Amino acid sequence: MLDYLVVGAGLYGAVFAQQAAERGKKALVIEKRPHIGGNVYTEDVEGIHVHRYGAHIFHTNSAPVWEYVQRFAAFNRFTNSPVANYRGELYSLPFNMYTFNRMWGVTTPAEAAAKIAEQRKEITHEPRNLEEQAISLVGRDIYEKLIKGYTEKQWGRKCTDLPAFIIKRLPVRLTFDNNYFNALYQGIPVGGYTKMVSRMLEGTEVRLGVDYIMDKPRWDAMARTVIYTGPIDAYFGYRLGNLEYRSVRFETELLDIPNFQGNAAVNYTDGETPFTRIIEHKWFEFGKDENGNDLPKTVISREYSSEWQPGDEPYYPVNDEKNGKLYQAYRKLADGESNVIFGGRLGEYRYYDMDQVILSALEKAKETLG
Ligand code: UDP
Repeated sequence: MLDYLVVGAGLYGAVFAQQAAERGKKALVIEKRPHIGGNVYTEDVEGIHVHRYGAHIFHTNSAPVWEYVQRFAAFNRFTNSPVANYRGELYSLPFNMYTFNRMWGVTTPAEAAAKIAEQRKEITHEPRNLEEQAISLVGRDIYEKLIKGYTEKQWGRKCTDLPAFIIKRLPVRLTFDNNYFNALYQGIPVGGYTKMVSRMLEGTEVRLGVDYIMDKPRWDAMARTVIYTGPIDAYFGYRLGNLEYRSVRFETELLDIPNFQGNAAVNYTDGETPFTRIIEHKWFEFGKDENGNDLPKTVISREYSSEWQPGDEPYYPVNDEKNGKLYQAYRKLADGESNVIFGGRLGEYRYYDMDQVILSALEKAKETLG
């Protein structure tokens, strides 16, 4: 009899399994896909670690999480500084003095603050949606050029129908600082995320290409406790209806040139370009191979955001009222499942970052394993 059956070899499952193994428990990890790592999976193409399911830049304010991940990988000094391309005009992200200078010609923090103050007057009440929140943070000019098109493409919904909190993820700074994240610690695991996750899973049996839902009773009978990290609605056979997700389609190309866009991420923030951004993977590792040599080729991925359909990979939970309510109903069902722990972005239907997933798995492991 297993102590734990862990469904899903993404970050949540890998961390939980690692903690269980460390405490001498017997766990088995099963995974539907043919590889470990979930959406942080990286794959080697011509020496480049390609982020197959979208860019993942590790960042955290939590010292314990940072210490924990260092056990499984060395992290490089990568700092995320995406560039926004609005109809050929290039802007620095997140919103900072470089952005304000390019947008308005202002050169001092006082001038930038005055410009924002003037534009935000438009919003006189507590912001009720993403559009109002964005204008009240940075003004209408930046909203129109750098937020509206990108956000509506990413979420497939009007900014007036999206919750304000999504845009609060982005910092607004009156300094010349292009670091996208407000995090104490940041970097990319040297050798790729797959290597890091595989080190977490050392000593734990993993079976790939196994669909838990297809054969649920058989798997359930094998373990005292199930850690389920798949979509919560799928677990219950969608009996209350489908939760909505955003999915992403990647068009990935290997190019026989050394440098396509000079940066890991360029966001296309207009409404007409069909993709949201282009990732050039080699820049996560400064364009070098493992021996420090310049890589002659490059791999780029255009990201197209789409509404999730059955059979697609789910990426982002849709945090609106309708889905929030449906999730709560599923959550009630989940509370009635004894011996099953639901975790991770899909199991908890939460817009988790990697560090939050790791922290929640560590806390759950502590609570359950002691
Ligand atoms: N966003 C934007 N313009 C950009 C980048 C982001 O308006 O160029 C908004 C968009 O609404 C997005 C949110 O900021 O959903 C959060 O972006 P983040 O980069 O944190 O999203 P993720 O990395 O999870 O895709």
